[in-house]
Amino acid sequence: MEDVRLSCQENIFGTYARLPVVFVRGQGVRLWDESGKEYLDFLAGIAVCNLGHCHPELTRVMCHQADTLVHVSNLFYTRPQVELAAALTRLSFADKVFFSNSGAEANEAAIKLARKYSKDRNGAGRFHIITMKESFHGRTLATLSATGQEKVHKGFEPLVGGFTFVDFNSIEAVEKAITDRTCAVLVEPIQGEGGINFPAAGYLQELKELCQKYDLLLIFDEVQVGMGRTGTLFAHEQEGVTPDIMTLAKALGNGLPIGAMLATNQVAEAFVPGSHATTFGGTPLVTSVALRALELISAPSFLAKINKVGGYFMRSLEELRSRHRMIREVRGRGLMIGMELEVPGAKLVENCLEKGLVINCIHDTVLRFVPPLIVEEQEIDQAIRILDEVLTEETK
Ligand SMILES: *Cc1c(COP(=O)(O)O)cnc(C)c1O
Repeated sequence: MEDVRLSCQENIFGTYARLPVVFVRGQGVRLWDESGKEYLDFLAGIAVCNLGHCHPELTRVMCHQADTLVHVSNLFYTRPQVELAAALTRLSFADKVFFSNSGAEANEAAIKLARKYSKDRNGAGRFHIITMKESFHGRTLATLSATGQEKVHKGFEPLVGGFTFVDFNSIEAVEKAITDRTCAVLVEPIQGEGGINFPAAGYLQELKELCQKYDLLLIFDEVQVGMGRTGTLFAHEQEGVTPDIMTLAKALGNGLPIGAMLATNQVAEAFVPGSHATTFGGTPLVTSVALRALELISAPSFLAKINKVGGYFMRSLEELRSRHRMIREVRGRGLMIGMELEVPGAKLVENCLEKGLVINCIHDTVLRFVPPLIVEEQEIDQAIRILDEVLTEETK
């Protein structure tokens, strides 16, 4: 452990605050470190490994594809890429898909598409995008500029222009911010990094109506909440509203790097040969695995179970809250759950890790629970026992 920590410090950029553990193996909801110690993983690589670690079916597809064809470039056709796109459009509002390698790149593509579409239609002046305070859209220059958090901006000014931030959940604030330069509204249907913040009832519908009234594009960033996380394939399905553009990444490849921007035909037509590209976008290796992951996650019986297990988890956490005054609120949908504390959560995260439970803390005081979607009630009981112990020790 210590040699890895030192070598990391010597050789890798210091951009991450890492916890003191070296993981070497994963299986389902479990991880093991170098000493053989077992952990329950309720973070899933930050909502990435939705089907758990080393899912045997995905491993089989991955090995077969690795042995067949890994990459050729988008100068040619490959079947897995086209099949994944066809499945995504069949299962969503969208007609077209652009493949990227990450969430930031998917959002970057969405921002470019919104600008291009709007300029083609309305002329050069209309390129402003309204986004939300406490949002998170990525770390590239445009997506960090779109992110409504000062700490993400700091040191990288001048930012990319044309982004306006308003309070999440306030329709009035959006309407007030609209000018004749506005072309789109970009929003996470549920804010992830910002603290697991849910939309008020009807908020996203009203947002859609507002966009229609002012001829703006509605962009949903489902990078974290998509792919079954909230009990439906996409989080916005539960809101009775569809966007014009949606971005996906995190769980799309169950751990292989892939992102996607999806859009309606009308909007997608603004991109023509030469408008946008990326070397690795949609390689046969990642798309074959993502296609199988999508097939598994989108099965109605699989999605139904997420709600059931998520409900069980929520009730267990509420029971914890009734006994621990340190817990201010538990909020969740499906297996996207946040537990807001009265105190900073970093220490609790460390103590959970020590006892073999992997979680993390966002927005200083919110513990985030995003376990693999295959988690069972028995594993939830085990996690609750550890949390109970850690909370009890903390109040002593
Ligand atoms: C993680 C995340 C991103 C950025 O994705 P990367 O793959 O890290 O670039 C963008 N939007 C949301 C909502 C995210 O949670």
